[in-house]
Amino acid sequence: HWERVRDRLKGEVGEVEYRTWLTQIILGPLEEDEVTLLLPTRFLRDWVRGQYGDRLQQLWRAECPLVQRVELQVKRGATVPTPVSAVTASAVIPDEVPAAQISTSQPPVAEIRNDLAAPLDPRFTFDSFVVGKPNEFAYACARRVAEKPSSPGFNPLFLYGGVGLGKTHLMHAIGSELTKGGQVSVAYMSAEKFMYRFIAAIRSQSTMEFKEQLRSVDVLMIDDLQFLIGKDNTQEEFFHTFNALVDAGRQIIVSADKSPSDLSGLEDRLRTRLGCGMVADIHATTFELRISILEAKALASGVTVPGKVLEFLAHKITSNVRELEGALNRLIAHANLFGRPVTLESTQEVLHDILKAHDRRVTIEEIQRKVAEHWNIRLTDMSSARRARAVARPRQVAMYLAKQLTSRSLPEIGRKFGNRDHTTVMHAVARVAEIMERDTAFAEDVELLRRMLEG
Ligand code: ADP
Ligand code: MG
Repeated sequence: HWERVRDRLKGEVGEVEYRTWLTQIILGPLEEDEVTLLLPTRFLRDWVRGQYGDRLQQLWRAECPLVQRVELQVKRGATVPTPVSAVTASAVIPDEVPAAQISTSQPPVAEIRNDLAAPLDPRFTFDSFVVGKPNEFAYACARRVAEKPSSPGFNPLFLYGGVGLGKTHLMHAIGSELTKGGQVSVAYMSAEKFMYRFIAAIRSQSTMEFKEQLRSVDVLMIDDLQFLIGKDNTQEEFFHTFNALVDAGRQIIVSADKSPSDLSGLEDRLRTRLGCGMVADIHATTFELRISILEAKALASGVTVPGKVLEFLAHKITSNVRELEGALNRLIAHANLFGRPVTLESTQEVLHDILKAHDRRVTIEEIQRKVAEHWNIRLTDMSSARRARAVARPRQVAMYLAKQLTSRSLPEIGRKFGNRDHTTVMHAVARVAEIMERDTAFAEDVELLRRMLEG
């Protein structure tokens, strides 16, 4: 029976998968209604159970209707002999074996370092990281860990925040700082890479070497841990590595898109341990931070980008720094290529597609808010009866923009501005257009606001 089940499975999964996972299975005790299959390690057992468990059961039943259950168990040394020698032997050792017992199989240090040596992006340094309210705490924690890894209270360091807010940047910065002296070994990898390397190690029957490598570093950084959600075997492996390292006084740094407690789908005990050190979140950027980042990047590029363009970008692209940076880079490349200065007009042209993606329908409330902010007046003055020029002019601009950017009728607009009459709105629209004709500074302000709001 077993041979037929095996052959059918082999036919279904293909030669490579079969050889990787299923040649390791051997048939264990048979009972009337239960079949036991043995695997050499817990990992393999879980893997086979997860990937092929149901199918194995179905195939057995089809083959032998008496069989109700297929049990998968771990048995030491249960490997089918293969032509390879030493490597195979170490791969048979179950996961549970403590690192100390297998340290003899440790490859030379140089090899470890090379293999896991962090491919750190040299641009991602502390110097190039712009600090503002939303990220100052995470930044301070990162600096602290780079100065004094493994200090109590900072291990693990857990950085979390939305996409493109600088998690990877900070991790690389820590890595670069720590490896400067050449004394500290740092392994940086994404959780995804971690998983693939782990699987590759299993395939090449070198999990022990992989574990040894990981456990020999001073600092282990795993980026985007949320990738491990639902990947139970890899989580398990990470958990063991994590414990071994922390127990040995090594520093762990992890990033994710959510806080440990919100990472549902990660094993509870892993979440608990992740939250035990320092948890630092990077908040969404503020307008001020976006401006600072743009200024820093524009300065570094050597291309002059007018403040109005930076403001425009910081208003338009609010989702994440990566997109903001991408937009600016495109402007800069364009300016360099054509030797033309960057202007608001050229920005709109060059970034047409990006900006369009960020467009949304604008509301009168939004217009009022933006205009009030721009001229530094209170939002309530948009509907107040005050007639002072400093208040009345911005109010007129807001009405003008409401007419231009929304499909609201004049009476509707009037109502939103403290129940004003539609003739007041009409008058405001005409007045603003008229001032724009003769006052270019004013016209530019209104244009800027319009571009920022445009939907
Ligand atoms: P995450 O890993 O959180 O998704 P990244 O670290 O990859 O984000 O950041 C995306 C891009 O934005 C990178 O090019 C990074 O250098 C840049 N970036 C993010 N935050 C900042 C910041 N505060 N200062 C300078 N650049 C930043
Ligand atoms: Mg990242």
